[in-house]
Amino acid sequence: MKTDLEIAVETELQPIKEIVNQLDLLDEEWEPYGKYKAKLSLNILNRLKSKADGNLILVTSINPTPAGEGKSTVTVGLGQALHQLGKKTAVALREPSLGPVMGLKGGATGGGYSQVVPMEDINLHFTGDIHAITATNNALAALIDNHIFQGNQEQIDPRRITWKRVVDLNDRALREVVIGLGGVKQGVPREDGFNITVASEIMAILCLANGYEDLKQRLAKIVIGYRFDSTPVTVADLKVEGVLAMLLRDALKPNLIQTIEGVPAIIHGGPFANIAHGCNSLLATKMAGKLADYVVTEAGFGADLGAEKFLNIKSRIGELDPKAVVIVATTRALKMHGGVEKDQLATENIEALEKGLENLAKHIETVEKFGLPFVVALNHFTTDTEAEVRVIKEWCDNRNVSLAITTVWAEGGKGGLDLAKEVIQKVEQQQSNYQPLYQLETTIKEKIEAIATQVYGATDVKYSPLSEQQIVEFTKNGWADLPICMAKTQYSLSDQPEQLGRPTDFSITIRELRPSIGAGFIVALTGDMLTMPGLPKEPAALKMDIDRDGQISGLF
Ligand code: ADP
Repeated sequence: MKTDLEIAVETELQPIKEIVNQLDLLDEEWEPYGKYKAKLSLNILNRLKSKADGNLILVTSINPTPAGEGKSTVTVGLGQALHQLGKKTAVALREPSLGPVMGLKGGATGGGYSQVVPMEDINLHFTGDIHAITATNNALAALIDNHIFQGNQEQIDPRRITWKRVVDLNDRALREVVIGLGGVKQGVPREDGFNITVASEIMAILCLANGYEDLKQRLAKIVIGYRFDSTPVTVADLKVEGVLAMLLRDALKPNLIQTIEGVPAIIHGGPFANIAHGCNSLLATKMAGKLADYVVTEAGFGADLGAEKFLNIKSRIGELDPKAVVIVATTRALKMHGGVEKDQLATENIEALEKGLENLAKHIETVEKFGLPFVVALNHFTTDTEAEVRVIKEWCDNRNVSLAITTVWAEGGKGGLDLAKEVIQKVEQQQSNYQPLYQLETTIKEKIEAIATQVYGATDVKYSPLSEQQIVEFTKNGWADLPICMAKTQYSLSDQPEQLGRPTDFSITIRELRPSIGAGFIVALTGDMLTMPGLPKEPAALKMDIDRDGQISGLF
């Protein structure tokens, strides 16, 4: 069997101009970044502002296994299938972070015959957006430390600086560091730490801004820490939002590339799906909507995290109007939810599969609560047995749930034609009544409780003394009207990763809140949440190489 990289490298790519032509762009609206990549101008949105948006389809999944359930693969495959059916289609996806690429998870460029290309570029440094975010984040860190060194006019408490430095790698040794050592000339010593770049608030901001002015305003609102009198210090107080926005000039422009079958794909931004909202940029989604009749996009992790945030945060901020949802399920994840050990997931187990379907049932209910039509996509693996597929079909039939078996990984767009037809039917025949699950005017606790009870199925929410105190402070600071961005394990509907299936009678515990005021949400942390991952014992990086001709190997 060919690797993803082999398939990608064998693909004959079209010059990017051909992809540009499919989208009817004007010459001044795009700039080539090499032969197969382009940056798109924000003016496109202005030119097409009165044009109706294309149909927005969100791809999400059940609670995944650590290997992922194939959301990116199905997103690309569905885009290719819609294209084969003659629909003017664009795919919108996140940019992969080097941390997971070199660690365990792999990139976010799909798989098999449903990938975006050139995959080596996309998985490595791409068009430099993530590096620009790193530089912008660290420029702010340097400006903060310089402010303190130069007399600390704002009376920033060095013990309460929340703004961290970032690097786009998994590097656990940098989680906690001490900076400014070496004497009076080297700065003011203080504890600091690093996050991975994709967990930076700058990334979340880039992904929610609707243009340069909005970008600047959001950057200005970032809270970098607190003064000795406990009042929050913002970027606006340091008067540096202009330079930070300037550093992001090119990074704010969405990137155009193609899928293996030559379907336009706009890849832009990649915020973490726990500490941030986990979807590609709003600009990319909006632009795709103006340029195509069907837009297929994806949100990270399962529907309890990614789809919830896509629908409660991104769609609300961006006034998006999603038309349908695709819920990806795999037999391996369903069996895992039915109690099968992770090393046995490729073996038939009907009993576990039947039990595991309760996890899918909960996600279906959640999508229905948002008022959206949906299709379940069974991402078919070669190890799936006929009996297993039959069980899933019967389960869906009995509940009147639309199911499409997709083989987009093995066959590309052809393997997603049934799914595409189901999606088109939903869009054309079933009215979507999309609405967020809570109103912004409700209290912080009411919003958290709406998510915990309605999306996770929890009975109640418990708060640590710290989070109770923060709720009072945040409300006093005028932040209570912001949406909530939950940071929770992706493996379970609860906040305990080992509670698989559909847990009942459980509480969600809020440990801490963090203000992401520039991004425009409050992060609510349940359990421990790492914002700087570590590398595993056998990092994927160990298999990667380059030969004397510059050919890469081992990148999946
Ligand atoms: P997600 O977006 O849900 O995290 P991805 O689409 O990135 O998942 O897929 C995760 C990995 O699984 C990729 O390496 C992809 O090639 C592989 N994969 C996805 N679907 C299939 C399938 N049907 N058969 C075999 N491998 C698959």
